[in-house]
Amino acid sequence: MDVRTAWYRWAGRWRIPLLGVVGVLVIAGAWAARTPPAQAPVTALPPASPTSVPPSPTPTWTFTPTPSPSPTARPTDTPAPSPTPTVPRATATPTPTATPTPEPLPTPDGITRTLRVPILMYHYISDPPPDADAIRRDLSVRPQVFEEHLRYLKEAGYTSVTLADLALALEAGYPLPEKPIILTFDDGYRDNFEVAFPLLQQYGFKATFFLLTAPLDAQDPAYLTWDQAIALDAAGMELGAHGYTHTDLRNRTVDYLVWQVLSSKEAIEARIHKPVRFFCYPSGQYDDLTIQVLHSAGYWGAVTTEAGDLHRSGELFTLRRVRVHGRYSAEALAAVLEWFAAQGEEAP
Ligand SMILES: [Zn+2]
Repeated sequence: MDVRTAWYRWAGRWRIPLLGVVGVLVIAGAWAARTPPAQAPVTALPPASPTSVPPSPTPTWTFTPTPSPSPTARPTDTPAPSPTPTVPRATATPTPTATPTPEPLPTPDGITRTLRVPILMYHYISDPPPDADAIRRDLSVRPQVFEEHLRYLKEAGYTSVTLADLALALEAGYPLPEKPIILTFDDGYRDNFEVAFPLLQQYGFKATFFLLTAPLDAQDPAYLTWDQAIALDAAGMELGAHGYTHTDLRNRTVDYLVWQVLSSKEAIEARIHKPVRFFCYPSGQYDDLTIQVLHSAGYWGAVTTEAGDLHRSGELFTLRRVRVHGRYSAEALAAVLEWFAAQGEEAP
């Protein structure tokens, strides 16, 4: 039989089964055409998924964390803006070798204290000029005598502290060394730097210098220069204000007092970059308004010319002192200190 008859015979036998198979394939194809979107991608993607990459290269590619910089950049941005300006100042102040003093006066703990700490009051440390009047001679301690004072104080076991130390001891119970003493110099004369300062360093004493700022601004040769004031501070000495000019602060207006006590305070602070906390009343003259203005200007206290070596908590703006007269030898100074020390707590 030829090919055609063979085909017809074969087809006749398998026609129905073939149609069934074709029908099934067509239906299955149609079904597959519908479902693929859901299944095909799922089975196709796995090979490309990261899970197959891990072997080793992935670690190096984990550079991707680089986006983290942006999150950390935000935090650093916010602190930076204002804090940074203050940082330079903070790092500038530590330079002095002086013992650090707490910025604000700690809140008084309410405990009443009485401390006996002589605050010596010096002015000139130089030989008075030949034509000096009685007042000038009384304010002048000769350099050699001043050195004898320091030698006596050292041998007697006194340790110098600052007025800030005294304030902290009175109001917050900070400790003071045995036999504490405070040396103060009024007016800021040139000899304080040229004569007293080297001797103080030689004998290991600190001191407090009360400056009148008008003569410093005017470069008056009788007074310190600003550079000398800065050097005193850098060496651990305490600087206080004595006013802009040497004037009576009683019966003044608030504006006048603010001008005198705040301008002198700010002039010194602008040079030494640390707070000036103590004031010295010119000629010891002051009234209640003077104290109020000093208080509101941020001072911790003030020294008077009233005699005494006892100090009480809550009375920092009326600190008494021991005047050192020009005629005082070391023996005389010793006798005066002993006399005050022998007084009861009722006495000045
Ligand atoms: Zn004075």
